[in-house]
Amino acid sequence: LKNALPGVLQLAPYQPGMPLEELQRRLGVKDAIKLASNENPLGASPAVCEMLAATARGELSRYPDGGGFRLKKKLAAYHGVDADCITLGNGSNDLLEFVSRVFLGPGRAALFSQYAFAVYSIATQAQNAEAIVVPALPRDHASMPMGHDLEGFARELRDDVAAVFIANPNNPTGTWLAPEQIEAFLEEVPEQVVVVLDEAYFDYQAPALRTDSRALLSRYPNLLVTRTFSKVYGLASLRVGYGLSHPSLADLLNRVRQPFNNNSLALLAAELALEDQDFVRKSVELNTRELARMTAEVHALGLKTLPSQANFLTIDFGRDASPIHQGLLERGVIVRPMGSYKMPDFIRVSIGTGEENSRFINTLKDILKMSS
Ligand code: PMP
Repeated sequence: LKNALPGVLQLAPYQPGMPLEELQRRLGVKDAIKLASNENPLGASPAVCEMLAATARGELSRYPDGGGFRLKKKLAAYHGVDADCITLGNGSNDLLEFVSRVFLGPGRAALFSQYAFAVYSIATQAQNAEAIVVPALPRDHASMPMGHDLEGFARELRDDVAAVFIANPNNPTGTWLAPEQIEAFLEEVPEQVVVVLDEAYFDYQAPALRTDSRALLSRYPNLLVTRTFSKVYGLASLRVGYGLSHPSLADLLNRVRQPFNNNSLALLAAELALEDQDFVRKSVELNTRELARMTAEVHALGLKTLPSQANFLTIDFGRDASPIHQGLLERGVIVRPMGSYKMPDFIRVSIGTGEENSRFINTLKDILKMSS
């Protein structure tokens, strides 16, 4: 076992949120809530739920459509690109792994921000490549505290950098970059460096802040835009994500993809979910409204938040937030502590239904009252 790659030996494992059932069992309650993993509180489109129940019986013995032909065709029409621009992943995490397997290895480096999504370092270190962590904007930055510093990224573009990971909006901060900033950065990146623009939270952004993927892809053959069905489409459990890129980049990524990385039910569900744009609109509306309300309520408690264009809010307690996290857990509210992101003063709470969010706020009030 000592023969494992040094990058792997140094890795801290990804820490998933506590399962709701586990907390309910521990507390002996049935009404705990989970606001820890940026999931869709509305569930999934009813069309998807019906299909899953109806098809599960017949589909299990057959291999899935390994090329994801029908889903790719629908995604191509949705995005106005050719189907050969699309790479399907088992969640968008899979795409991050494809990039690392195709482009990273010993002697090569990947660039990402401090406070970046945990899987970027996992994918980099697993390939024994170097991770160059670009300092984030300062905590007291006037407009985008702890956001990505793309000028800092540009300064770190050494010759051995083979991949750049940028999440927009970013997890775990919720911060964002304007489309012009992204474009200005892409102009600076040498053609042989792959830029992953991770848009897991794309649909939650205000329309004016959304990038035009199609226009970007036509200009930058080294760009991979990743999207997911896990958030606004509410299919986190089925694991479907995809990449949009120039066909020659998609071809490379597909070479390292497991032939059946998406199961049949997931492929069918994603097709139906894509067609149910009413459900997407409903989910976005709920999130926009509740994110604004949660932000205002948290500010009214005298706490700071990071600006968010995603489906979560990252709260700055100005001191170690682990007792708050613990207090919330004991009262049946699961949120994400930020210690593993080296942000011990912060808690990230996913935007739930109105009822769940009120429960979070009221529980937080109780805890703060007790500790004051
Ligand atoms: N990118 C970012 C920035 C994320 O926050 C997440 C999910 N937490 C993902 C990618 C991966 O999502 P999935 O694999 O479910 O598509």
